[in-house]
Amino acid sequence: MDDQTPDPAAATLEGTPDVDGAGAADGAGGADARGDGHADPAGLSPATVAVTSGRPARVPGGPVNPPVVLSSTYVSAGTPPPGDLLYARSGTETWVPFERTLADLEGAAQPALVFSSGMAAIAAALSLVPVGGRLVVPRHAYQVTLGFADDLAARAGVEVVRVDIADTDAVVAAVRAAPTSLLWVESPTNPMLEVADLPALVAAAHAADVPVAVDNTFATPLGQRPLAWGADVVVHSVTKYLAGHSDVVLGAVVVADAALRDRFLAYRTLHGAIAGPWEVWLALRGMRTLALRVERSQANAAEIARRLAGHPAVAQVRHPSLPDDPGHERATALMTGYGSIIGLRPAGGVAAADAVVDALRLWVPATSLGGVESSLERRRRFATESATVPEDLLRLSVGIEDVEDLWTDLAAALDGLGGPGA
Ligand SMILES: *Cc1c(COP(=O)(O)O)cnc(C)c1O
Repeated sequence: MDDQTPDPAAATLEGTPDVDGAGAADGAGGADARGDGHADPAGLSPATVAVTSGRPARVPGGPVNPPVVLSSTYVSAGTPPPGDLLYARSGTETWVPFERTLADLEGAAQPALVFSSGMAAIAAALSLVPVGGRLVVPRHAYQVTLGFADDLAARAGVEVVRVDIADTDAVVAAVRAAPTSLLWVESPTNPMLEVADLPALVAAAHAADVPVAVDNTFATPLGQRPLAWGADVVVHSVTKYLAGHSDVVLGAVVVADAALRDRFLAYRTLHGAIAGPWEVWLALRGMRTLALRVERSQANAAEIARRLAGHPAVAQVRHPSLPDDPGHERATALMTGYGSIIGLRPAGGVAAADAVVDALRLWVPATSLGGVESSLERRRRFATESATVPEDLLRLSVGIEDVEDLWTDLAAALDGLGGPGA
């Protein structure tokens, strides 16, 4: 057993795609409804799968790790048998172990599809929305995803409907209001940390014949497995937790359905947003330690959020681990762990928020998240961030450093706000 799976019953469950989503919505669905049952036939826990999946065949003298193959083309003559490697835009052996491991973590029978960035993966998923289609998106989500949706509206006549993804009734009403091409979900959302009732949303969308795509970057497959709730598409910014070291930009799409995978595979080959072999190899190496990193950063985040909540220079703190957080109950019922992102609004508005960023010595002022190092930024410094995100919101990505060192640095920055010139 690994301690990423707090419910011992989960280890005995086979990952089942046919989850009673409605039951899960009220937290009564148990371990299975959380999606952390194990699709792996050997019944291994996700922490083990992250280490063992995608290894080369175990032969004497063979390598323990997959090789990096640098070749743009493959020897081939005559009519190539289907599935043969031909040309590196269509497929390379370096992608295979990564795609297998991520699929195993997400509980997908089909291999994942790696893309050159999270946005390339998101662009592929959004190709499900036709010209003149209708797309329901969270009003708070990764800002470039929302920018992409706006671009679809401008250039392809797509009707984009923004909803509060935590307001289940509002989302259900939006997907029922008119024929809809796709429901896009982030949970928890970037950067507001709203938690969606994912099984309820999937059930309602499917009842209206609407496919569902989930950006699972924040939760990671260790936190939730949307395919187990019936979601049609999962996308990742592999750049973040999966790779985990802020040294690669990479993305992935994971689906349960073979025909849908073929469609996205054709999309990738056609559009050519493919990943380089080094990046994919590095990302797989990062994934080997995913469970350890997530476990540590989540524990750090929960402790820091708890301390922030009691600090006099803090106006608001959001982390689903906090008992009075609006997402707490749902995250407890639906997720394994609460993630490692904290929303922080210091007392004193934008000036105070910027002063905190400037005063920190250990935390890195930088965009992005999910690395081993703790970082933060004020999101509204980007003009493109949603106007309903508070101007003074700091998004903290908590890393794996010693929690006392992190707190000492943060507390000193907050304590400094009260001083002269504040
Ligand atoms: C960073 C991020 C993306 C975009 O991924 P890239 O790898 O930067 O292209 C998408 N969704 C979420 C939730 C992210 O945090």
